[in-house]
Amino acid sequence: MLRTEHLTYKYEDNTMALKDVEINLNNGEIIALIGGNGAGKSTMFLNLMGILKPTKGIILFNGQPLEYNKKYMYDYRQKVSLVFQDPDKQIFHSNVYDDVAFALRNIGLPEDEVKRRVDDALIQTEAYDFKEKAVHYLSYGQKKRVAIAGVIALNTQVILFDEPTAGLDPAMTRGVVKIINTLAKEGKKIIISSHDMDIIYTLCDYGYILNHGQVIANGSIEDLFSMD
Ligand code: ADP
Ligand code: ADP
Repeated sequence: MLRTEHLTYKYEDNTMALKDVEINLNNGEIIALIGGNGAGKSTMFLNLMGILKPTKGIILFNGQPLEYNKKYMYDYRQKVSLVFQDPDKQIFHSNVYDDVAFALRNIGLPEDEVKRRVDDALIQTEAYDFKEKAVHYLSYGQKKRVAIAGVIALNTQVILFDEPTAGLDPAMTRGVVKIINTLAKEGKKIIISSHDMDIIYTLCDYGYILNHGQVIANGSIEDLFSMD
């Protein structure tokens, strides 16, 4: 499915954010990227999305290295999607419905199919009641749900979640956990970054611990949690 070989990423100011990272999505159903602030989790996701291009190493999707051109990325983003930690990085449009519909219209889906998918996604994320609302006025938690609805509607095989529950209250957190579990049951491959061990333990079956851009341990969640 999705894996990396010697993935290394250096920012322009020479910060080595990732060094020789090797992950493989086939190791589990819901994979955890575990690490504190600055460990390299977001950089990892930006590389996996093709938004950043590795300084060294490669990312393979179904055995083939990613290609960094418009046509390839247009197709790739219908297979792999990312829920950003900050929903403001992901939602731009006038109202909730149009925001979730944007990517689907962009692919050229007929409007009745767009409506079916958007309504389903908004119901699943409990955002349907405010679908006509301007995104600008939503609370953080509401924006987060709209951002998640966007990737649900896109229906990609792989979904990446960068800190999906950060900043959410307990009820909203339970809602997001439920959504991620449902997506996994539907057969989606999922990677979640988090430093919340409860969330990781509840959701994930395999994990990679990142520290200063390097994988310092990986294994089943049971093994990782019994290590220390
Ligand atoms: P995490 O998501 O685990 O908090 P990041 O991937 O955001 O970690 O950051 C990894 C490292 O890269 C950190 O040292 C961070 O300061 C650095 N970094 C992140 N973004 C940039 C950037 N745009 N330019 C320079 N350094 C960056
Ligand atoms: P919180 O951030 O705690 O959810 P807010 O005060 O941001 O609370 O919002 C409460 C509710 O009011 C939310 O449903 C939000 O979408 C809505 N809201 C906030 N400001 C406006 C506004 N100017 N116009 C319309 N709805 C608004």
